[in-house]
Amino acid sequence: MKQYDYLIVGAGLFGSVFAHEATKKGRKCLVIDKRNHIAGNVFTENIEGINIHKYGAHIFHTSNKEIWDYVNSFVEFNRFTNSPIANYKGKLYNLPFNMNTFYQLWGVVTPEEAIAKIEEQKKEYAHILEPKNLEEQALVLGGKDIYEKLIKGYTEKQWGRPATQIPAFIIRRLPFRFTYDNNYFNDIYQGIPIGGYTKLVDKLLEGIDVRLHTNYFENKDELDLIANKTIYTGKIDEFFNFEFGELDYRSLHFENHLLDKSNYQGNAVVNYTEKEIEYTRIIEHKHFEFGTQEKTYITKEFPHEFSKDNEPYYPINDDKNQELVAKYQEKASLLDKVIFGGRLAEYKYYDMHQVIEIALEAVKKEF
Ligand code: FAD
Ligand code: UDP
Repeated sequence: MKQYDYLIVGAGLFGSVFAHEATKKGRKCLVIDKRNHIAGNVFTENIEGINIHKYGAHIFHTSNKEIWDYVNSFVEFNRFTNSPIANYKGKLYNLPFNMNTFYQLWGVVTPEEAIAKIEEQKKEYAHILEPKNLEEQALVLGGKDIYEKLIKGYTEKQWGRPATQIPAFIIRRLPFRFTYDNNYFNDIYQGIPIGGYTKLVDKLLEGIDVRLHTNYFENKDELDLIANKTIYTGKIDEFFNFEFGELDYRSLHFENHLLDKSNYQGNAVVNYTEKEIEYTRIIEHKHFEFGTQEKTYITKEFPHEFSKDNEPYYPINDDKNQELVAKYQEKASLLDKVIFGGRLAEYKYYDMHQVIEIALEAVKKEF
């Protein structure tokens, strides 16, 4: 008889949802995390009454009512709608690409005028029938002005490679619409958990054994004996000791400032889309929850290459890495006592709602 049914490596959303559901089914779970806190990358910490998104801006959005009801059953969500502003060389543009942006770029007022302008901009790229990379995709979607002012600089800073070496699907994450609608997402439901994401994960993990500061690989001998099955949400290449080589990830450095003023930029997210400014965006956390505190807390996000000393925030789903991850996935599929789930273990550019969906699917398969 083992002490636990499940050892869950990682107290992020995948691990916490799995642990919660398995516990509901009467299974005993141990959740470990190498960090000193729960919640993985959605961790929020309260500083000066403001919930700080410690690993970058997190806005919850989904069109799946089941997932929306699920998260709302643990914590109430507010009505926040993400509408970032882009700052290109001191001039401001609304995002995502919509009638406000087209007006700011070209002075066009009606959807017909905007469509005509974009058609004219796209003409040069009509020969690209199947965009092979992000640059081609962006040019085919919106033409040269949008690409050069709002996409190229940001993208090349974010990914540290030319836009011609970045997969096309990444730019298709952003809506492109001919209405005056600055909502960054097309999903039906959107908001921020009132009181922060940590509150949501706290609720998920209520009554469950959690060990922080515990790296699976440093305690493997003990931990492998403790449970019947392992749920692994860390890096898939690390699990297999990098035997086929290391996957690439993109990392970030966060520069934080607590300011003695109540309102720094008037919006939760401002993107800096020119290449010359090193950071990609500035987050002003209080605006996620319509805060009225006297002080404000801002974070500049500087992308850089991943190394062993920092966090693997983004998978880089180009051909080279997709081929490599397929080898690891094949090995993973042969292990019937380990379930690999989440953004790092699956090496997928998942949003939060998708991680919750796949965790609930994994639970359904188990029970
Ligand atoms: P994680 O949150 O990464 O959790 C994995 C956990 O495993 C971590 O806590 C880690 O410490 C732990 N771990 C790893 N290896 C080990 C080990 N060896 N031993 C012990 N513990 C280990 N999604 C949205 O829906 N909306 C957004 O606005 C949004 N913004 C984002 C902004 C940024 C900058 C980033 C990086 C992501 C964003 N996301 C957003 C995505 C979201 O963060 C993820 O989808 C989600 O948090 C992934 O959950 P997870 O459980 O798979 O992974
Ligand atoms: N992007 C851009 N300009 C912007 C915002 C985003 O070119 O002002 C591109 C960039 O390539 C980025 C991708 O769109 O990596 C996806 O953006 P998203 O905001 O979804 O990125 P995330 O929040 O996951 O970092």
